[in-house]
Amino acid sequence: KEQTQGVKKDEKIRVAIRVRPKLRSENIKDSVVECTVSENKIRVSDLTHIVESKYDQLFDMPSTQRDVYDFITSTIQGVFDGYNSTIFAYGQTGSGKTYTMFGPSWEENIIFNKKQQNALKVRNQLIDQQAIIVDKNQEGVIPRSIREIFNLMKSNDKASQDKTNHTIYCSFIQIYNEKIYDLLQDIETKKPLKTEKDCFALLRRGELNRITRQTKKNILSSRSHSIFQLLIESDKPDSRGFLKKAKLNLCDLAGSEKIHGLEDMQNAVHINELKTINLSLTNLGKVIQALSKESKMMKKNQNLFTPRGHADYFQKVHIPYRDSQLTRILQDSLGGNTRTVLIATVSPIIDNIEETISTLKFADRAK
Ligand code: ADP
Ligand code: MG
Repeated sequence: KEQTQGVKKDEKIRVAIRVRPKLRSENIKDSVVECTVSENKIRVSDLTHIVESKYDQLFDMPSTQRDVYDFITSTIQGVFDGYNSTIFAYGQTGSGKTYTMFGPSWEENIIFNKKQQNALKVRNQLIDQQAIIVDKNQEGVIPRSIREIFNLMKSNDKASQDKTNHTIYCSFIQIYNEKIYDLLQDIETKKPLKTEKDCFALLRRGELNRITRQTKKNILSSRSHSIFQLLIESDKPDSRGFLKKAKLNLCDLAGSEKIHGLEDMQNAVHINELKTINLSLTNLGKVIQALSKESKMMKKNQNLFTPRGHADYFQKVHIPYRDSQLTRILQDSLGGNTRTVLIATVSPIIDNIEETISTLKFADRAK
């Protein structure tokens, strides 16, 4: 049942590195990491460390949200060709994952819309989704993808000779310490979404629930994964007679920083929590590494990857999808005929170099 044509093998998994600019809140004295770039490799070093990472695309400090979206747009479009696709933002807390995936934080949106002072006060208006004026240039991957998906749906359905209709469903979940929380549990989401506006309403509702949950338990903000998922279904079979269906997963991952004891310790309810808190990120790394290896082997030896060869390969290489909730949820969107983009976000500040290096290593293993 696999669709094998049309996917450029080397596009199965793509890796981008994004260095965020220095923030106004950061000390002027904070120095910025020096890095050298050559032939799709970034090299970062200080007196004690040195790391080199390969990538497909580097977004340096002046890069825009638009630049990032241009890089992933083919992946978003691929969903309409039936490819399950996943975009991840991976990096330490404060490196720009949420900015990349969603856009500026709500507090910043509210500052942008100067009349609003307090996020919770405007809750009701938010639900009406009129309250927040977002600078469109600053919108992240998720809002941009929503617009593109709905535009594509409209134009595809209009152009189709056999009157194909697409239906879009949305879900928005959070995973914290191997538990899954539905951020849209208070709304009816089984219903197909008719318009982009409906979809944005769910997105905002979910974001609001996310913020409310975070305020209650601070650790959640940095230690949980948020997954915004769109399911697109066509009411007409494809050329082989299969009903076309594809998923787009947009993931703002938990902070990749090491557990630093005290702060996390105080926030974690049980010591056991600390042990499993990073499990899904570690496991994601293993899965992505296995898939990247697979992709490389496919490039090297195309013949092996007849359906039979593929099966043989999977018997040899264990891909530990089932070892964590995150990869279990994404299982049908990772590997096989799917597309994955990893955006590794890093801070430019020298004090963060250790985590920067660890993020670059993660990116390099995926490449
Ligand atoms: P994370 O989600 O990884 O913890 P955030 O996305 O919240 O990090 O980013 C931390 C801060 O840096 C936020 O204030 C955010 O708006 C800002 N920021 C991150 N990336 C950029 C960028 N590329 N351009 C401008 N501001 C950014
Ligand atoms: Mg974040």
